[in-house]
Order: sequence, then structure tokens, then C-alpha cells
Amino acid sequence: MSRVIGIDLGTTNSCVAVVDGGKPVVIPNTGGYKTSPSMFAISQDGKRLVGHLAKRQAITNARHTVHASKRLIGRRFDSPELQKATELFPYEIVEGQSGESRILLADKAFSCSEISGIILREMKRVAEEYLGEPVSEAVVTVPAYFNDTQRQCTKDAGKIAGLEVLRIINEPTAAALAYGVGSKVEEKIAVYDLGGGTFDISILELADGVVEVLATAGNTFLGGEDFDRRIVEHVLEIFHKQEGIDLRDDLMALQRLKDAAEKAKCDLSSMETAEINLPFIANDANGARHLNLELTRETLDDLVGDIVNTTMKSVAQCVEDAGLTPADISQVVLVGGQTRTQLVQKAVTDFFGKPPNRGVNPDEVVAIGAAVQGSLLVSEDKDLLLLDVTPLSLGIATFDGAFAPLIDRNTTVPVRKSHVFTTTRDDQNAVKIRVLQGESERADENHLLGEFVLADIPPAPAGEPEIEVSFDIDANGIVNVSARDVATGGEQSIAVNTTGTLSDEEIDQIIAENEDVELPGA
Ligand code: AMP
Repeated sequence: MSRVIGIDLGTTNSCVAVVDGGKPVVIPNTGGYKTSPSMFAISQDGKRLVGHLAKRQAITNARHTVHASKRLIGRRFDSPELQKATELFPYEIVEGQSGESRILLADKAFSCSEISGIILREMKRVAEEYLGEPVSEAVVTVPAYFNDTQRQCTKDAGKIAGLEVLRIINEPTAAALAYGVGSKVEEKIAVYDLGGGTFDISILELADGVVEVLATAGNTFLGGEDFDRRIVEHVLEIFHKQEGIDLRDDLMALQRLKDAAEKAKCDLSSMETAEINLPFIANDANGARHLNLELTRETLDDLVGDIVNTTMKSVAQCVEDAGLTPADISQVVLVGGQTRTQLVQKAVTDFFGKPPNRGVNPDEVVAIGAAVQGSLLVSEDKDLLLLDVTPLSLGIATFDGAFAPLIDRNTTVPVRKSHVFTTTRDDQNAVKIRVLQGESERADENHLLGEFVLADIPPAPAGEPEIEVSFDIDANGIVNVSARDVATGGEQSIAVNTTGTLSDEEIDQIIAENEDVELPGA
């Protein structure tokens, strides 16, 4: 039986693990690193590069190097938050056929699922090289706060990578699984997960053999990238004031500045001051200009304080949703590289009244949990039960534009709810239903998952037909819809038009296109 790998598909870095000889191990890539940059590039001579190789050439080939594509996955091109967060991205983002975001590289508009698929394929390759055998099954993690579209796109990415995704699990749940395996103590823990692009908080209860998520909250558009952007904007402003030159238009300078800003941010996790030193950053009639400035931890705290506060609001809401108080939490587990920033650790410590647990590696714990879940799914050992929740309320739009929730957020999955629909006109033969996820009372402020058309309704007076529509959320957090005619019990045909995901034909086409492409990773 081939082994199931666990993949943490991160915004910044990805990590793969497997249970080997009963123990989870993180698999190093060819270069010996335990994580690989989630980056993909098309080099100037047309080669496709992934991981460290893509990162190494990012400065000189910024326009054709993709980083943080997870920020775009399952998102509409015209969403204002996307426009803001990607303002300084060097690569071009374009609108796909159904309004989704795509990435333009060397004249091809790549779907975000394809880019994620290429990264997953690289992680599969790393695992196969280590194990010396083919791998075909995986558990892939996603931010707990990912909606249905983002989960579907991640599943498509798995298919593109040649992997059967046995389960999609939430990153903080995976971390808790890795943390709680073998623990016999009953406790309630909080997992605070701040990565490169997303933030999640989950409150879980660990009891003998059961890992149960009590509540989850978060923001899929908030992470280390935003910390970097704040530093970059701060430095751009200072440089503009001092030298009268705006570096925004110079892609190579911007990429160098972004790298330096991230490095300074990381340095400030252990030091009080950091240098940003970029010689020959610009040139004008007066000659070469150098950028040289010192960033203090205090300045960093000022620049990102409101971002950290935003995360703490979600933490407070999540604890409340779980029906608990901060004092009920016995352990706080930090996940994601961005939790190394001291301001983050201080905010978490102040809120829970105790310092976070230092026993887990924030970069590896999610992949380890995914590997543990993978091995549980295929083993006979059913001693561990994992109960997760849906992060967002699922409902439908009513005729007056309101949102009618059918399944509330933080309901344990899998879950099924039914609703009976009828017609409003005599002999109406179809009913259109708009399915949404979100917490706003107004339908148009929530995320549209898709439109479902109940068709072929037999002629009858208005209000007479009764069509029962069932909404299922499976263990992956993915929504499925089915319908039946109450009178006859027969299946009612339903046409699903999901927004922003790929059709089976498109996936097959991408797989065929990628078959011959050799990806030199590292
Ligand atoms: P992840 O998505 O978990 O790989 O987290 C990546 C994010 O963590 C990136 O934004 C990194 O810049 C950030 N990060 C990594 N190491 C540190 C550090 N020592 N201090 C602050 N942030 C860090």
C-alpha cells in the first residue's frame, strides 16, 4: 500500500511530511531544506522553475515569478481587498472567464489552481524521491477560514498535481492533531496561526482519542505579506522624501526592497534594530542612489500594531463562540512563521494570561498533522476521532436581497440541512437559488458560491410544487447540493454554476499540458 503524504500548502512556504515507521517525519527537499518557497517562475529562456530555484531568480525576473498566489485562489479579480493587497505585486493579475483572478506569465493566464498544482506536484516529487516509491494520495491543509470555492480550487490543484486528495483539513486543526497525538490529558487549547498570507484561530478540546474543534475564526487576507507591505510602504515614503525618487515604478528595486523588508522584519524578532541596506537602488541625473536606513522594533510595532489588533478581535470572538473565557484555555499553540514577531507573542500572552507553548515548530507542525491524518485515514487504527467545524455560515439569498442562513458557522461537519422551495408563478418550470457563505445579513456582502437552477418542474399552480434541496458540507468543508421532488420523491435535476472553479475538462487540459514539462525544483 502506498503511503499518504501530508502537505502544508502555505502562502510563503510549503512543507511535506509522512508517517514513516509509525512516526511523522518532515521530508527535506533536494537542497536539504524542510520547507520550499511556494513560488513558481518562467525563466527568461522559457524554463519553468519552482521552489528555491524560482525564488533565487525572483529579483531579476520579478514580472514572471509568482509568489503568494494563495492570496488569489478562489477570489474574484474585482474584489477591492485583492486589489489593495496585491498593489505592489510585480506580476500581472488578470480576470478569468468567470471573474476569477488569473496570473499572466509569458503570455499565458495561469489559473491559481494550476500554480498551486505545480507547487503540490513539486512536494509530491520531493516525497517520492525520499521514499523511493510513487505517491498518489495526500492530505492537503487549508486555512480554516477558507470558503467553499477556495477549498474546491485547492482540491483541483491536487488533481492537477496527480494526487488524490483524500482529505482537506484545516491548518490549525492539523497543528492540534500533531500537538495532541498520544496525549492522554483532557484540555482545551487555542491554535493561533499567522502565516504569510492568512490568519486563523481555533479553539479545540482534546480528550482521550477525540480532537474536537469548538470554534474557529480568522481572516484569509491577513498575514506576514501585509507586515512586509507596511515596511515597504514606510521605506518608499522615506526614500521619496529624502531623494525625491519614487521606487514604485522600478520592479527590480521593489523586489529588492521587499526581500530586505522581510529580512529586517525577521531580524527584529530577535534584535532591537535591523538595517535595510540596498546599494545602487536607483539612478538619476545626479548619479547612483543608495538606500540605507535603520528600522527599530518600536517602528515595526507602530507599523503593524493595528494588524495584530485585528487578529486579537477574531481571537476574542472565537473564544466567545466556543462558549469559553480565556482562562479556560490551558495551552496556546503558535503556528506560522509570522508568530515569531514579538508583538504577536505579547498580544497572545496578554489575552490568554499565559505564554504560548514553545514545544512545537511553527513551520512544520501543520504538515506533520496532515501526515498523521493521512495515515489515520488509511490505517485500521480508528482510535482517534477528529471533529471539525465549518468556519462560515452557509445560506441562500432571499427575494429581497437578504441572507437566510441554513447552516450556522461553527457547526460540526459533516452536516446536512434541507430546505423546501416552491414556485412563485403558475407553471413556472425553473427556480434559481443563489448559495452564499458569510456572516452579513445582506446577501451581496457574502461570498457567492454558485447559482443552482432547479429545472424541469412539472406545470402546476404557483406555490404547489415542493422541491426539497439538501445542502451537505462534507468533512473537507466542501459544499454539495442535491434536490428532490417532495411529491414523487424523485431526484430533481439541478444545474450548478460554481463561480471561479475549474471544469473537469479544464483540469484534464491542464494535466495534459503539464505532462511533458520537467520542473527542476530544489
Ligand atoms: P508561513 O506561511 O508559516 O511559512 O509563514 C511565513 C511568514 O512568516 C512570512 O511572512 C515570513 O516573513 C514570516 N516569518 C518567518 N520567520 C520569521 C521571523 N523570524 N520573524 C518574523 N516573521 C517571520
